[in-house]
Amino acid sequence: MENYWNKEIECMPREEMKKLQDERLVKQVKHVYENVPYYKKLMDEKGVTPDDIKSTDDLHKLPFLTKADLRDAYPYGLLAKPLSECVRIQSTSGTTGRRVVAFYTQHDVDLWEDCCARAITAAGGTNEDVCQVAYGYGLFTGGPGLNGGSHKVGCLTLPMSSGNTERQIQFMRDLGSTILCCTPSYAAYIGETLKEMGLTPDDIKLKAGIFGAEPWTEEMRREIEKSLGIKAYDIYGLTETSGPGVAFECSEQSGMHINEDNFIAEIIDPDTGEVLPEGSKGELVFTSITKEAFPLLRYRTRDICVLSRKKCSCGRTLIKMSKPMGRSDDMLIIRGVNVFPSQIETVLIEQGYAPNYQIEVDRVNNSDTLDVYVEMNEEQFTDTVKGIQDKEKALTAAIKQILGISPKVHLVSPKTIARSEGKAVRVIDKRKLHD
Ligand code: ADP
Ligand code: ZN
Repeated sequence: MENYWNKEIECMPREEMKKLQDERLVKQVKHVYENVPYYKKLMDEKGVTPDDIKSTDDLHKLPFLTKADLRDAYPYGLLAKPLSECVRIQSTSGTTGRRVVAFYTQHDVDLWEDCCARAITAAGGTNEDVCQVAYGYGLFTGGPGLNGGSHKVGCLTLPMSSGNTERQIQFMRDLGSTILCCTPSYAAYIGETLKEMGLTPDDIKLKAGIFGAEPWTEEMRREIEKSLGIKAYDIYGLTETSGPGVAFECSEQSGMHINEDNFIAEIIDPDTGEVLPEGSKGELVFTSITKEAFPLLRYRTRDICVLSRKKCSCGRTLIKMSKPMGRSDDMLIIRGVNVFPSQIETVLIEQGYAPNYQIEVDRVNNSDTLDVYVEMNEEQFTDTVKGIQDKEKALTAAIKQILGISPKVHLVSPKTIARSEGKAVRVIDKRKLHD
């Protein structure tokens, strides 16, 4: 039996949802045009007025907003409500540069928490559950978002924040946590620590995990599910659109339903800006149609994925997005070849390694170098030198087959690659330092 937080919205027939989006979009465009001079100027420059936007069919006429605009307008330039009506700010993690801040009215916080409540409910959460929130609390949206969603569902909420992994496990056991919310890399670390403490999934009561905020592969999902004895659900969001909960996974575990009553999604060609038909791979763009304080229109996320309206077994009619396997600016160009860190992760896990790795890219004598540091587990480590060299060779060949270029693989001792309590740092691109 599938659970819904808001069945009427989540299973709404497409035509009705479009009508709701049309109405909300028209209202939102007016609100932004009248209250955000920064965006009004972009619309004026494009020769578009609110009267030109009569429904979602006109969405493509609006100008895009980018992270550069957010940095340009920092801090108040995109605010659409007086500060006296705002009750909260959150900020991006700064993964790719200067942080940007987002503002929320109480209405915005409620909508955001509702989105997170949908995610928890879709993962089977009810007021009988104990929900351990091990995303970071503070400016990062992970902790506050899931905390609010957990309250709405009525779970007993453990506001752990990230870190202090042994204490996480102790509380998990003492209080019988049934749902864990954190980044996938931290979930993997908790699983590893559990084993090190001599415990098994039978010693804890977890049944589900809600993991997001960074890319992770299907292979990593299976690893985490095994190490914690749970079903692992993906959740997606970004500070600019509120935070986690923009999209969430259901029991089918094949893509995330986008909360379309709040966000209109488009896929565009990142080079030309052209809107691509459903099913095409491209850059995800969001228009928020219900937010008051920080309502971004056509915001370019730089996340690369595919949208699908294929019927879902859970009964939801909300459009689904595939797992973003990296941002357009995560993509490395190494010796002219496009490389996403997630491609390397897939190979590693397939070959029996844990997702503890780091990729180092450099430029020596005008040629790009690609070094992949991969941690061995205890059993692999007891191998002979020759055995380890053979493993390195095998891994090099497997990665070359996927990428088309040959890396230098270094197998390193167990526990030498730093564990992540938040978003993992997978790539060190030293070329940027030289430029
Ligand atoms: P920053 O952009 O500084 O990392 P945020 O904390 O707002 O700031 O992170 C949002 C970004 O995190 C998204 O744009 C996306 O790239 C990534 N992200 C969030 N959830 C997921 C997910 N489930 N899968 C892959 N990437 C994700
Ligand atoms: Zn579904």
